[in-house]
Amino acid sequence: MPAPAPTLDDEVARLPGAGPRIAESLARLGIRTIRELLFHLPSRYQDRTRLTAIAGVRPQVEVVVEGVIQTTQIHFGKRRALICRIADDSGFLGLRFFYFNRSQQLRLEAGRRVRCFGEVRRGPQMLEMVHPEVQLVDGEDAYSSPLDTALTPIYPTTEGLHQARLRKLTGAALDVLAREDGQADAIDALIARHFHVGYTLPTLAAALSYVHRPPPDVDVDELWQGHHPAQQRLAVEELLAHQLTLRQIRLRARRLSAAALKPPRSLRAGLLREFGFKLTGAQQRVVREIDADLARPLPMLRLLQGDVGAGKTAVAAMAATNALAAGQQVALMAPTELLVEQHGRTLSRWFAPLSIDVLVVTGKLAAAAKRSARALLGEAVPRLVVGTHALFQNDVTYANLGLVIVDEQHRFGVNQRLALLDKGAVGEQRPHQLIMTATPIPRTLAMTAYADLDVSILDELPPNRQPVRTSVLPEARREDIVARIHDACTAGRQAYWVCPLIEESEHLDSQAATDTAAALAAALPTIKVGLIHGRMHEREKDLTMQQFARGQIGLLVATTVIEVGVDVPNASLMVIENAERLGLSQLHQLRGRVGRGREQSDCVLLYKSPLSETARHRLQTMRETNDGFVIAERDLELRGPGEVLGTRQTGLAEFKIANLTRDRRLLPTVQQVADSLLEEAPALAERLIERWTVHRVEYAKV
Ligand code: ADP
Ligand code: MG
Repeated sequence: MPAPAPTLDDEVARLPGAGPRIAESLARLGIRTIRELLFHLPSRYQDRTRLTAIAGVRPQVEVVVEGVIQTTQIHFGKRRALICRIADDSGFLGLRFFYFNRSQQLRLEAGRRVRCFGEVRRGPQMLEMVHPEVQLVDGEDAYSSPLDTALTPIYPTTEGLHQARLRKLTGAALDVLAREDGQADAIDALIARHFHVGYTLPTLAAALSYVHRPPPDVDVDELWQGHHPAQQRLAVEELLAHQLTLRQIRLRARRLSAAALKPPRSLRAGLLREFGFKLTGAQQRVVREIDADLARPLPMLRLLQGDVGAGKTAVAAMAATNALAAGQQVALMAPTELLVEQHGRTLSRWFAPLSIDVLVVTGKLAAAAKRSARALLGEAVPRLVVGTHALFQNDVTYANLGLVIVDEQHRFGVNQRLALLDKGAVGEQRPHQLIMTATPIPRTLAMTAYADLDVSILDELPPNRQPVRTSVLPEARREDIVARIHDACTAGRQAYWVCPLIEESEHLDSQAATDTAAALAAALPTIKVGLIHGRMHEREKDLTMQQFARGQIGLLVATTVIEVGVDVPNASLMVIENAERLGLSQLHQLRGRVGRGREQSDCVLLYKSPLSETARHRLQTMRETNDGFVIAERDLELRGPGEVLGTRQTGLAEFKIANLTRDRRLLPTVQQVADSLLEEAPALAERLIERWTVHRVEYAKV
């Protein structure tokens, strides 16, 4: 008897052409069943359905062109290459081959007509294709095939699994799908009911078939932009699945328990005395929000967003008191050693007078010191410990960790958040979590990326801050700037000079910063110039930073290592070289190092001409506003949420079809539907999550 036809839930090995080796490769992509294969969507399409006139080709776009070879030459440059020049009625184009043999060279002789497929790029002389697929169109050895009738899907793949094979396999999977009952199911119905996008969204089955095999008459532009109803249908479902996943994490965390902690009166009063300032209204409100969380016997999962300089450290210290007074430990994690040291100093200044120990654990500690720090964490004594991610390595155990605070970690992914939650677990009991970020994220986006967290916003700066004055100047004005630094430092102010990453090598960048520091020291003989870069020893960096904080260094030359968290209120002038190279959020973070005191602060953005359109736009935005939320919005428009959120880490990278910029208008509905699904139809929610999360196995470990 013949085996029954495979169903969607069968293993991929049941598909024709899928042997054990292929199944293994597919497994590496997280694909085990035929259904999972159907959710392996094309990342893009190739258009081999039409010829493009050479004058119409653009860099970074793949096209088919046809033309007559005008010249063929071997070019002996840095790298030997065969270079042909082809022309059609509209223009000419280069073809460049690094690997070729004699017969290939002979075939590409002048006068022959060729059809080429490839990606166009800017060459040294003209636009060109590197190693295009070439077909001879005429002559007796012609081997051209007709143009395709439909777009060719290109799939994400892994070694040993070719596109052609993947196309065959997905084709076979689509046959299985077509054999199954094509009726709309409960999820189709749900989506059709809730998402009114101006047209009817197709069923899942129809959408999948369309996206895998767009028909010949497809509206290519619509497809390219991801606006086709089939793509939108899948995007809705994927966003929904993602939202449900995060909500579920949150529900699970809510089922765990935590120590209920009250704000301690006397410790708080002591701390406020040590601060030497009054909390702003926003700080007080956020502290109340945190207190309410901590008072419940459930682990807090709260994200604190606050613009640079808003005073998040003081909020963190306030939150710490609740755990400390209850006899528990508090761990504060920061992304750089520089920041760890600084937090160590600030927190010691505040807490030492209150008889609370602050431990600083950094990589530079000697082995013995590390051991003793670890031993201290094993004691059930209320202590504050500050460190990098080393705080959460396997060999560190906490006697009674009550609160984990993560500073400056907007790029902290959901998996890392989960790992943190498990650190310090005792049975069902978990520490509370507070995550602080200085990257303001627009609301709908934050609700998507952090649906497992509650969000507090610190939207007020401490009083008497003056907005930083920002000017944008060409590199040619360097000497004027140096004169300004001279005047500022002579008047007792301090300044930063930032040399951003230019080379892809930390070595070269550190060298550039070193050279700049030397040149500035020579130009400013009366001013003490310090230097900080990534290749210096931690101890050296720390020493320099301390001298700067104490005012012993007037001008600090640095790479972008000072981007996050550094707080020296007396520094009121910042110069950023090559500012055109930096993204908006990064410029905003850097600028946030000044404007922290009462002094009027200035930021000078030096650029090298010519400026690209986007660079001009960025610098102009910096000049126009100091508002982190406005800047984040612009950054989002310019770079997209992937870059802004750091999607790889936030777990948003694996969106296969959804795009947070393009599909933003769907987000509010996605959130609503996710909430009601979890309440009313948990089984359906489960199925949606299942469908989309299989492929995350690989990413989960990153
Ligand atoms: P960020 O939110 O960027 O981490 P910090 O916590 O480093 O900001 O605070 C920036 C500066 O503002 C610090 O010097 C801090 O002591 C000071 N600060 C914080 N809160 C207040 C306040 N309510 N009043 C005055 N100064 C404050
Ligand atoms: Mg900070």
